[in-house]
Amino acid sequence: MSSPLFVAKPVLPKLSEFLPYLEEIWKSEILTNNGPFHQRLEKSLEDYLGVPCAMLFNNGTIALLVALKMMDLPPGSEVITTPLTFAATAHSIAWNGLKPVFADVDPVTLTIDPAAVEKAVNSNTSAILAVHVYGMVCDTDGLRNVATKHGLRLIYDAAHVFGTTVSGKPIGEFGDVSVFSFHATKLYNTFEGGLITTSDAKDKERIYFLRNFGIKNEEEVADIGINGKMNEMQAAIGLLNLKLVHSERQTRTDLRSCFNNILSGIPGVLLPQEQANVSNSEQYYHVVIDAEVFGRSRDDIYDALKAIGIYSRKYFHPICTDFAPYKGSTIHSCRDQPYVEKVKSQVLCLPFHSGVTQQHVAMIAEVFQRR
Ligand SMILES: *Cc1c(COP(=O)(O)O)cnc(C)c1O
Repeated sequence: MSSPLFVAKPVLPKLSEFLPYLEEIWKSEILTNNGPFHQRLEKSLEDYLGVPCAMLFNNGTIALLVALKMMDLPPGSEVITTPLTFAATAHSIAWNGLKPVFADVDPVTLTIDPAAVEKAVNSNTSAILAVHVYGMVCDTDGLRNVATKHGLRLIYDAAHVFGTTVSGKPIGEFGDVSVFSFHATKLYNTFEGGLITTSDAKDKERIYFLRNFGIKNEEEVADIGINGKMNEMQAAIGLLNLKLVHSERQTRTDLRSCFNNILSGIPGVLLPQEQANVSNSEQYYHVVIDAEVFGRSRDDIYDALKAIGIYSRKYFHPICTDFAPYKGSTIHSCRDQPYVEKVKSQVLCLPFHSGVTQQHVAMIAEVFQRR
């Protein structure tokens, strides 16, 4: 059997291009603490993402922690989020001494349903942490309306939507803040890394201090900060990888068309829906398999692919409310049964990157078409 195919494959610059950057770092002896590569990357990302302020972090989880900390939400207050996300989303709420409260997802986009959020709101609610999952953009109007009506802060976990725009508006401009991850598995990576975007100058200043232990100057520590700093090697990789994002995304756009063509019209296999006016980040390609109609389950397909060396992922199964710390939490919903409880055993992310060949696509199609 040929080498295994994984759901993600990191974008990497040529090693020979990285070496001169390392030489620069060795020469300057500046390894971290807002060094020259860090400053260049922040500026480059502001330009690339079209946002007024981008603040780099050592990873997306610390960036989420800081985004919530910056808001000074009342201790123990409730933050409404989606159960269909990576663990870090819910954990960032709990680590801040806040209570994650879960709301159902929309059946088409699989992002948090604003009507379900509204059902979850009570006098102890302080914020909404929404996730643009798989690259599907949330109902940003709906969420803004709920947030405004109830006086809630609105944070977006934008880990899956690097470079997305909605009717030309950069995704990082929605809500109070957006948080990105530059983990190796993401479309754009810095090995590990994260970013907060905000247009509020007050928030920006606070985030800046929180990222560096709350240190204001040599004499003053003004905040209970953390070490969220990105180092110079990460930032150097980030500058090189930023040049490769466009071509990686283009390859994935073509791959999306391939998957769409070859998997369309299979009863019970729902392909990712295109969103009007959204330029897709191309983070993931997710299918939803209805076993009753299709005749085979998501897990059957997962196993059949695995048997031929193709490793798809059941993101995000188990969902957050299945995790020990959140088990038994209510999922607020507008339905009798939360939709997320059903879709969690139907959704499957296929390998989606420039390492997926035409032959791989044919092998995947064959597994779906088997009777
Ligand atoms: C990857 C990811 C994160 C966290 O990112 P790290 O950089 O790995 O800490 C947060 N939320 C979602 C939805 C993610 O996929």
